[in-house]
Amino acid sequence: LAMIVMKFGGTSVESAAAIERVASIVRERLDRQPVVVVSAMGKTTNRLLALAEKACAGERAEAARLLEELAAYTLGEARQVCRAEDWAPLSGFIESHFQELSAFLDELAGLGEFPAQYVDLISSYGERLSSRIVATAFKHFGMNGVHVDAREVIITDRRHTQAAPLYSRSYAKLDERVKPLAQQGQVVVMGGFIGSTQDGFTTTLGRGGSDFSASIVGAGIGADEIQIWTDVDGMLTCDPRILPGGHRVKMISFAEAAELAYFGAKVLHPATVVPAVEKNIPVLILNSRNADNPGTRIVAEAVPCANPVKSIACKRNITIVNIQSLRMLMAHGFLKRIFDVFDRFQTPVDMVTTSEVSVSLTIDNTTHLDEICAELRKIADVSTDNTQSLVCLVGDNIRDTPGLGARAFGALRDINISMITQGASKLNLSLIVLDSDLQRAVKALHDEFFATLDEKVFDA
Ligand code: ADP
Ligand code: ASP
Ligand code: MG
Repeated sequence: LAMIVMKFGGTSVESAAAIERVASIVRERLDRQPVVVVSAMGKTTNRLLALAEKACAGERAEAARLLEELAAYTLGEARQVCRAEDWAPLSGFIESHFQELSAFLDELAGLGEFPAQYVDLISSYGERLSSRIVATAFKHFGMNGVHVDAREVIITDRRHTQAAPLYSRSYAKLDERVKPLAQQGQVVVMGGFIGSTQDGFTTTLGRGGSDFSASIVGAGIGADEIQIWTDVDGMLTCDPRILPGGHRVKMISFAEAAELAYFGAKVLHPATVVPAVEKNIPVLILNSRNADNPGTRIVAEAVPCANPVKSIACKRNITIVNIQSLRMLMAHGFLKRIFDVFDRFQTPVDMVTTSEVSVSLTIDNTTHLDEICAELRKIADVSTDNTQSLVCLVGDNIRDTPGLGARAFGALRDINISMITQGASKLNLSLIVLDSDLQRAVKALHDEFFATLDEKVFDA
């Protein structure tokens, strides 16, 4: 009998009422042997990181006040979804975890900085708490909820804040610890986002990583579906935070979804598709506030579609690095030397354009920007620009639709475009525009490419 993984994001577990909705969604699917993965409640991860930063900056009292507030919120919501007989152990669990957090704040105040191991340790509490609370809540709502600490089954490398799973070890643990519980009719609840190294240090898979956790769990237990429950009806034709009124995409391929996620569609963590593709498990994006909506189904192959573009993703506040060197005219090895620098500082490059003596590229992560520029200045003139946004058209048909570029540029005729690339995958066409033009650009492109809709693929 097949199993499913159901992942619920922060807004889906942000309150007692939201957790009750989750419980009823899961209860209706008990025959499919669900394993549940949850994010931290609401904005807990951001709040934990913000208060830890206060402690590092010497504002220990303010950090303590914010921690109190978070504890009160967590206890207040948990209380309402807990049976009387479970409250003593559950509240004890929550309170002892907040005491541990308080002790870490003292350490951070002493350190005066926030090392990556501590970032992981502190942010892990969000999912450790939410998963325990939801497991207990399931009992209150008549299910056999059981908590599994995700750090015992998701094993990762040591790259704190950006850890990569060790797949075969994690799959073996999931098969051994989680699968039998689901087969016995228990509803396992575990936290997303978190894992541990082989020697037991807490790690995280990167922000938004609970989607990725769900997919690792699905692959590890041999699930036949991975459901990502969130706060929108599915993958939409544009980012609703930039432009409301987009249409639901009913079906999309793994490759298209990965491209959209990578270029800013926050609804899915970009790595989510990796385990799902490997084991060919369909991924669904569904709305926990509108559970009857069929959502988006992500499948191996793109279905034939009359629209060349499936969706428009965007990333605000990216940084362009312009590199120019006349000395490099006709010389070989220029690009290699440039990319070596980005590689050494573990900074991914999103877009690249080149001419004979200059290279412009975009990055999202500016942690090491100063060091990178200092290195590059040894071989070239370097300037940076952080007033730009990336807009990315994604669709499997882009590769063989002639005139698509002309349509895009026509739609943007009043807007200055500072860089253009067609991704090597040929699934995307990316443009860089000023942050201040982003909304106008997305609207113009959306009007151009979604004026008519193929109803097999889009919810009109
Ligand atoms: P969760 O907490 O459930 O993981 P997220 O906030 O991480 O939720 O992701 C859902 C959000 O992603 C949506 O509320 C929406 O604002 C944003 N989003 C960005 N691009 C898209 C898109 N193309 N389709 C749907 N949602 C998108
Ligand atoms: N709670 C984590 C975050 O806010 C992981 C997630 O929500 O997917 O990044
Ligand atoms: Mg998310």
